[in-house]
Amino acid sequence: MTILTKTLGGAAILSALGLATLTTPPTRDAKAQNAATAPELVGKRWFNTPQNQPLTLAARRGKVTVVEFWTFGCSNCRANLPAYARWQKKFAAQDVAIIGVHTPETDYERDPKNVEKFLREQNITYPVVTDESGQNWRRWNQQYWPTVYLIDKVGRVRHQHIGELQGEEASVTKYIETLVKEPAPTAKSPNRRTKVSKITKTDAEWKAELSPAAYNVLRQKGTERPYSNDAKNPQHGVYTCAGCGQELFASDAKFDSGTGWPSFYQPIEADAVEEEVDGKFFMKRTEILCARCEGHLGHVFNDGPAPTGLRYCMNGVALKFEAKE
Ligand code: FE
Repeated sequence: MTILTKTLGGAAILSALGLATLTTPPTRDAKAQNAATAPELVGKRWFNTPQNQPLTLAARRGKVTVVEFWTFGCSNCRANLPAYARWQKKFAAQDVAIIGVHTPETDYERDPKNVEKFLREQNITYPVVTDESGQNWRRWNQQYWPTVYLIDKVGRVRHQHIGELQGEEASVTKYIETLVKEPAPTAKSPNRRTKVSKITKTDAEWKAELSPAAYNVLRQKGTERPYSNDAKNPQHGVYTCAGCGQELFASDAKFDSGTGWPSFYQPIEADAVEEEVDGKFFMKRTEILCARCEGHLGHVFNDGPAPTGLRYCMNGVALKFEAKE
């Protein structure tokens, strides 16, 4: 039977809205909160893995992973189970993994035998880790049952869906499709690999060719002042590299981020740009370079709009606009 009102007060209202809450507020994990990278999964009791061995997100690098927090006594969590099964089937060929993190609320849910029985009865065949002590819940700064996270090929959380998927399964499915299409990382580039052939010039050649402002950004990794080069272009077209002319961003992917720097939710082709990690510790950022001339363009952040959730924050002086039909 459903246990709709197993949480009390405001939590019961949330439950009616398709959400359940953990009655004890989780301690915040500053590391997990600040990192765009998904916290690694912990816990020794796994179901539906070879020999019940633990899975790690680190080992999933290069593949897309769906992590869903649930507990079997929560009716809102159970309502999402058919959608997870559909994703498991739909994306099997792309090696997308669904991983359930079972964070119990009651002692009955905490008993691994009951979890195992539920998985068997419901024919759930994707990996599930039990989270009896709520360790994963805290590491992920979790608040509601159920919550779904989409993890990209480089291990970043790219989308979060809280509550039942009813009515929104199609849009979350689109997110997964977007992530699946992205190129996998390789050793050379920590995040992306490009097939674009390189052009190289001496520093003196670049200096002679570029305006001082463009040289400062492209070749010396400078940052222009905000609002200095973010013209609202009414035409359709393509933004190319001011250094080498490579096409980088379509005007359709441009949005007003309010930052004063030209912002895009995706490059025109995944191979048009390269990513490198710069900075140290909590100041780590992902730098975006032109894939052809390796000129510095700006950085990418995880707070962009749909459909990618990314914000490519570019220096306008490093771009040239070409109107196209
Ligand atoms: Fe370039």
